[in-house]
Amino acid sequence: MNSFSAKNRAAIIQQITTSQFDLLIIGGGITGAGIALDATARGLKVALIEMQDFASGTSGRSTKLIHGGLRYLKQFEFRLVAEVGKERKIIHRNAPHLARPEKMLLPIVRHGSISKFFAWIGMFIYEWLAGVKKAERHKILSKEETLLAEPLLQKDNLLGGVLFYEYRTDDARLTLEVMKEAVSRGATVINYFKATEFIYQNEKISGAKTEDQITGEKHDIKAKYIINASGPWVDELDDLEKNNHTHKLQITKGVHIVIDQKKLPVKQSVYFDTNDKRMIFVIPREGKIYIGTTDTFYNGNLENPKVTVEDQNYLLNCINHFFPANKLYLDDIESSWAGLRPLINKPGKGPSEISRRDEIFTYSSGLITIAGGKLTGYRKMAQRVVNKIGERIRHDEKTNLPNSNTDAIQLSGGKITEASFSEFVKNKISDGINSGLSKEIAEAVVMRFGSNADEVYKIIEHLNKTENHELPVLLRAQLIYAIEHEMCITPSDFFIRRSGLLYFDIATVKRWKTSVISYMQGILLYQPEILERYSKELNRAIDDCSVNGK
Ligand code: FAD
Repeated sequence: MNSFSAKNRAAIIQQITTSQFDLLIIGGGITGAGIALDATARGLKVALIEMQDFASGTSGRSTKLIHGGLRYLKQFEFRLVAEVGKERKIIHRNAPHLARPEKMLLPIVRHGSISKFFAWIGMFIYEWLAGVKKAERHKILSKEETLLAEPLLQKDNLLGGVLFYEYRTDDARLTLEVMKEAVSRGATVINYFKATEFIYQNEKISGAKTEDQITGEKHDIKAKYIINASGPWVDELDDLEKNNHTHKLQITKGVHIVIDQKKLPVKQSVYFDTNDKRMIFVIPREGKIYIGTTDTFYNGNLENPKVTVEDQNYLLNCINHFFPANKLYLDDIESSWAGLRPLINKPGKGPSEISRRDEIFTYSSGLITIAGGKLTGYRKMAQRVVNKIGERIRHDEKTNLPNSNTDAIQLSGGKITEASFSEFVKNKISDGINSGLSKEIAEAVVMRFGSNADEVYKIIEHLNKTENHELPVLLRAQLIYAIEHEMCITPSDFFIRRSGLLYFDIATVKRWKTSVISYMQGILLYQPEILERYSKELNRAIDDCSVNGK
């Protein structure tokens, strides 16, 4: 039995704790999810455990872009630019609902970190390395054209601009869709399951001791090979390895703030220079604008990095300098989040100078650790890690693992047969309207769930026939889908990572939280102490992302 329904948690636990796996992956962010899919698709019997919710580490707290890698060109990281550019195309092909082209304006300013020379020459090199398709090649703009594209920009130091493309994603959903694809192909995956110790047999790791974070029960999981894909926790987990004495990571914190688009009505996304020679994104999304990010060394709590007023003021100062006509204040911030970059330690370098490259570390005990990297490069990272497992299998069992084929695997929600995503969207919306949904609801479902929209439509139809409830039907349908198809266990799982509402529509969270909690209670039958724990956890999450508890 393989399933991704929270209602089947007991059966999944039974399966994960009684089977012998080829591979156990520790960490349910994008790195772990990617490895689970690659390894399962190559025929390995795979288990994955996540101690919190999927994507509740860095993979749900990023800038939510599938990068082309322009930023890395400035650091002369040519291999990285070429790789992420290629990976971006693959993600777009296999999950078009989660990688949408986003036109980005890069203003060129006097004394800025991007010179006119870089704009002219650098963009050509970047597009050649990243393999940017013709329709999405950059356009150099004069000062007047730049102001036409974005009239709110400060004019004094403006020299011109460049229009180019980035791709926007929903990082937590991407992680979930990769995970769902792995599960549909046979991986056994569970959240709220923490690895606490490695199990050794003849000096080799043969499994992990784990603790269910909901019940406190302890279980062993048996696997021939173990992968540490725990992002910012990589050092903590490697410390459980008997022979490990080195720390690999330098953690930096990055913060984003969210404001209403009416407060800063930019016409499009902008990527601008700061006075301290950093770059900041301003990205419109669903009536809001999110702005980020900061980059500061961090050595605090890994589970719950906090946004500070200093972080918020830094971003506000940057933005007010660049958009002086629309001054923003702390009170304008509706929501925010902080994420931790698990970067490979390079002493002596500043936070923004450290490479975003990934690295694989292998131990004689059999443990394989992957650290660093980007959301965008997850598929290639996974391929490299599973190749390493392939080397071990060749050595230990004298058999060859098939080559990776994830470049040809359409992800869950990305199973689209139409010639273009827009054609698919049009057809699917009309299917929804034909089955009695409003255009608005059908569109919201298609854009979020891609080819899984049919499942959500079915739930809505059923609810419309059987239930009369104060919660809007779209919210209820998403909730049921999240519980039954995406292992959503807690109200925070739903509001933060399944729906993104905590960041992009916090008013809806505040309005419906009590109703959602009781609706979930009706389905998942929480014990009273668990109900209290989850309610407190959601309230804390709301406080953490609001300014001064607003
Ligand atoms: P994580 O997502 O942190 O996953 C590791 C998981 O392991 C966690 O969920 C954790 O709970 C779990 N875990 C830890 N210990 C245990 C244990 N003992 N047992 C079980 N589970 C455990 N990349 C891009 O491509 N585009 C961007 O726009 C972008 N923007 C970014 C912006 C910011 C501010 C930051 C911080 C990063 C950004 N990145 C971006 C980088 C990208 O988000 C990360 O590289 C990526 O998400 C790392 O994923 P991961 O799976 O390695 O780590």
